Amino acid sequence: MMRQAGAVAAGCARAEGISAGCADEFSGWLSEGWHGGMEWLERHARLRLTPESVFPGVRTVLCAAFPYAHQGGHGHAHIADYALGQDYHTVLRRRLQPVADEIFNRYGALSRICVDTAPLPERYWATMCGLGRPGRSGQLIVPGVGAGVFIATILTTLELSPDSPLADFDPCADCRACVDACPGHAIGPGRTIDARRCLSYLTIEHRGPWPDDAPRPRGRLYGCDICRRVCPHGGGQVEPLPEFTPRTELKSLTPETARDITSGEWRRLTRPKNSTSAMSRLPYAQLKETLKALFGSK
Ligand code: SF4
Ligand code: SF4
Repeated sequence: MMRQAGAVAAGCARAEGISAGCADEFSGWLSEGWHGGMEWLERHARLRLTPESVFPGVRTVLCAAFPYAHQGGHGHAHIADYALGQDYHTVLRRRLQPVADEIFNRYGALSRICVDTAPLPERYWATMCGLGRPGRSGQLIVPGVGAGVFIATILTTLELSPDSPLADFDPCADCRACVDACPGHAIGPGRTIDARRCLSYLTIEHRGPWPDDAPRPRGRLYGCDICRRVCPHGGGQVEPLPEFTPRTELKSLTPETARDITSGEWRRLTRPKNSTSAMSRLPYAQLKETLKALFGSK
């Protein structure tokens, strides 16, 4: 069913509490303050420990990976590839709704679709479901598909026999390409990222003036693809979903052109008619803060 929805990898796992190792890793990451200003991660930390707290009665976690368009090359993109098409939250929810409906119609089981919209450790569940394994940069790497896919989850009360994690798949081995290429030196041990030094966090999630001690944005307006672009697993080996075809007006946006954009134009750019963009979550005022950091006060 997930494949019919456009997934390139899919699997399921028993909806048990997460492993002690994963829980400890996350609480250690929080206590170091590496989540920066994402205080909701702290607030919802306990909910992440078990999918039961997100969807009472859940028996199975279904995970699926969906490819987005990769622009290729090791160049510095102004906007992360994943954000150039339609908003993945909307697209994947729309694609997974028929799966949830089918589960209900056939088995009478209830489901909750989660696309980055619930306190779930998605990469942990994707690993448990056998989709792939996280690389050093923390991104899920799917064999034959590569890095940088969207992960979507269905929590369901239906009991299914679980898949197994990919025991023999070690995506990184001796490679450290992403660690060496990261402009903010944000990639730490144990596949963890110090968000405060990550240009993806700084250009998307951070609010307020650009921190003095943070790496400079280096041409980024929204996100940073360097760790994925240098990864030998790359991405783009499979056709992306048509909804994720990059929009020309986003692809052609540069820091120079963004300087002259008004708030109305930003709204139209990130919320086009009959569609949305993941970039709509970035307030115009915050874009201006990034531009200030890029060019100095305007
Ligand atoms: S997104 Fe950019 S800044 Fe963040 S970890 Fe990857 S390479 Fe480093
Ligand atoms: S660049 Fe190398 S170390 Fe980083 S995730 Fe890819 S394979 Fe692993």
